[in-house]
Amino acid sequence: MTDALNRLLVVDDQEDILDFVAEVAKSLDYAVLTASRAEDFCAQLHQFGPTLIVLDLQMPGTDGIELLRYLGRQSVTAPVLISSGMDSRVLSSAERFGRSVGLEIAGVLQKPLMLAELESVLERHRVIERAIEPAEFSRAVDRGQLLLHYQPKLARTARGWRAAGVEALLRWQHPDLGLVYPDRFIPLAEASGLIGAATDWVLQEGIRQLGLWRAAGLALDLSVNMSPKLVKDLDFPDRLSDLLAAHGLSNPMLTLEITETAALEDPTRTMDILTRLRVKGFGLSLDDFGTGYSSLTQLYRLPFNELKVDKSLGMDLGKTREAETMVRSIVGLAHGLGLTVCAEGVETPRALDLLGEIDCDCAQGYYIGRPMAAEAIPDHLEFLPQPVASAG
Ligand code: C2E
Ligand code: MG
Ligand code: MG
Repeated sequence: MTDALNRLLVVDDQEDILDFVAEVAKSLDYAVLTASRAEDFCAQLHQFGPTLIVLDLQMPGTDGIELLRYLGRQSVTAPVLISSGMDSRVLSSAERFGRSVGLEIAGVLQKPLMLAELESVLERHRVIERAIEPAEFSRAVDRGQLLLHYQPKLARTARGWRAAGVEALLRWQHPDLGLVYPDRFIPLAEASGLIGAATDWVLQEGIRQLGLWRAAGLALDLSVNMSPKLVKDLDFPDRLSDLLAAHGLSNPMLTLEITETAALEDPTRTMDILTRLRVKGFGLSLDDFGTGYSSLTQLYRLPFNELKVDKSLGMDLGKTREAETMVRSIVGLAHGLGLTVCAEGVETPRALDLLGEIDCDCAQGYYIGRPMAAEAIPDHLEFLPQPVASAG
């Protein structure tokens, strides 16, 4: 076994694919072994001890499903990425099968493989060599290591989908660990009380950037994620209005996305502040609807104006009838309560078409655009339907 921290094992019968994946992975500091036959793959599995596996579903002699079953029997813990040129329904049932035999399926890669997608998935699964200390995160804020990526959002109008806004997503450019994604540090920031400082930074930076875009004539709105535990300061709505005004912006241009509304220290106060935010014209969005955290009661009790369907449902749209039924029902429910709906995880043109048919108001996902640096947004928007000019 090599002592490289990140070890990728790729099995595919096409040599050019093996070469491509190996080259990209090596550039991201992976040690890589490739196999073009199932027998080689099984032998290498034990010697190499991969930390990530890329597996082609269609192999001469064996099929990928057999290999998944084999990996399950071997109690492999390394995440598996399934790649194939087959249609997405086959891929998603292979994905479910993999999970049913106890594997961690990290995702599916549709062939032809796209460089950006491969890079982002390999980057995400890079093992971080050590736990991150709260003090490190605290320094990150002071030392300017935080950055925002922005993911475009489309809104449905009578004339079709139009670019309407972006969601700010926090990243940490760590000096040793590279680009670290929020799943790895938000829980730590929340537990150690550092989330407040980070969120202040996100709001300042996001609003500054929004001011620049607006000044350049891009009629975009901004969504920012926020832990509801931070909503306890009675001055917050006024401070936020002042911050927007300082950049020549108005309150409806900003939406706060809130995920977990259980276990609040002071629900009455939170409710008070959320209501004032709405009265002042800010958008309030219930994020990750359809997961364990967001419930119907919250939707009914709190003054949200938008509901965001969790990406796990969006990703299944067009693949399973159940996902379509769920999203359709959620849209009906939300519209009945006077809320708009934004579906996340839109990865295919088919999913976007379905959302149009279902009357979903907003869409976000890799098909529309991945989270990207602020500088990339104007060019990316040119490929999207143009924003509808809005007043103010
Ligand atoms: P979220 O707010 O639900 O953000 C959407 C996540 O889904 C993002 O992951 C985004 O990259 C990913 N995503 C978007 N479209 C697709 C798609 O089509 N397919 C797939 N597979 N994924 C897609 P990211 O950036 O890793 O963020 C994860 C979570 O971290 C966010 O979930 C949010 O809850 C939290 N987060 C991000 N930035 C902040 C922040 O500034 N403050 C707080 N409190 N939480 C944040
Ligand atoms: Mg969000
Ligand atoms: Mg979400």
